[in-house]
Amino acid sequence: MGDSMRTISLLGSTGSIGRQSLDVIAASGASVAALTANSSVELLEEQARRFHPELVVCYDEQAAADIKVRLADTDIRVSSGMDGLIEAATLPAADTVITAVVGNIGLKPTLEAIKQKKRIALANKETLVCAGELVMKTAQEYGAEIIPVDSEHSALFQCIQGSKDHGEIKKLILTCSGGPFFGKSREELKHYTRADALKHPTWKMGAKITIDCATLMNKGLEFIEAMRLYQVTPDQVEIAIHRQSIVHSLVEFRDNAILAQLGVPDMRLPIQYALTYPARMESVVEPLDLFSCPPLSFQRPDLETFRCLKLALQSARKPGVACAVLNGANEAAVGLFLKDQIKFLEIADLVEHALNTVPDGPADTLEQILDADRAAREAVYTVARF
Ligand code: MG
Repeated sequence: MGDSMRTISLLGSTGSIGRQSLDVIAASGASVAALTANSSVELLEEQARRFHPELVVCYDEQAAADIKVRLADTDIRVSSGMDGLIEAATLPAADTVITAVVGNIGLKPTLEAIKQKKRIALANKETLVCAGELVMKTAQEYGAEIIPVDSEHSALFQCIQGSKDHGEIKKLILTCSGGPFFGKSREELKHYTRADALKHPTWKMGAKITIDCATLMNKGLEFIEAMRLYQVTPDQVEIAIHRQSIVHSLVEFRDNAILAQLGVPDMRLPIQYALTYPARMESVVEPLDLFSCPPLSFQRPDLETFRCLKLALQSARKPGVACAVLNGANEAAVGLFLKDQIKFLEIADLVEHALNTVPDGPADTLEQILDADRAAREAVYTVARF
């Protein structure tokens, strides 16, 4: 793509971002070096036969054994587990790694890919939330590029092109759709279940992020992600509820100029830009028709109803492992909610409990971060009612 066609390792190819990434790759003629999935072997086999990677990985051992049989007639190598993910992330043939796995499982492979100086097209926000300082420091040390795929962060990234000095940035304004429960009170949300939360008005996404959008934790994680990516203070990030999902985020500069990126809500645009940057190519995304756009509105979020967002904003201000605890507890609590084992408002209760009980500490090493993550999950499982 651009001057040189990219060769891509795609971590998390069967999820929503993974499938859309393959749309972009197919349309652009880029090639695929590796595909990884957790356990969706049927789709993974189909993708492998279409894109001919040299390596296919299933995180799940049983699924890896299955895909090995399915691909026995090809010369595609099969690996499994965390070792397999790391092998995919560091494959010499790949110059770019798209990290589209869900959760903190993306952390180790991302760090290893950075050490191999791959371009990271980052779609795994949990990596920057848990280990933002470590990841950014490592990227700087090895000179690896991290290009955001998250639509808001891609918008910010696009807006700051041409700004030579980060000191010119006054404020990053993250837009937020408000989620399916926008305008509801805590009283109304009391009895909400998994099925209510899985209806998202605008974006089509996987289950975990859809729940994070309903609690607004997603915006909290994105707030932390933005701080890390652009090295700004929490006071320099603002959240604006924007129900139309047309403005994907804005940057206010020192001179009070505000730049915004607009477009139809379609993840294939930020995915493509992460691959073609600094060039822009034609895309499969529909153009935005300004004349049929609804009026654009912006308002402040309701932090009392959406306590997950409040907890994230508080964690963002703490040094050390607080953000890793926030993320680990949230992953565990959302997992329980998706199994109908807790109610909607209990997600925030459990995250708050973990933040109050897991001891604080430095987040300088991967071990410290993973320990905090584990402790946070344990704190959630210990108090959750089953
Ligand atoms: Mg986003």
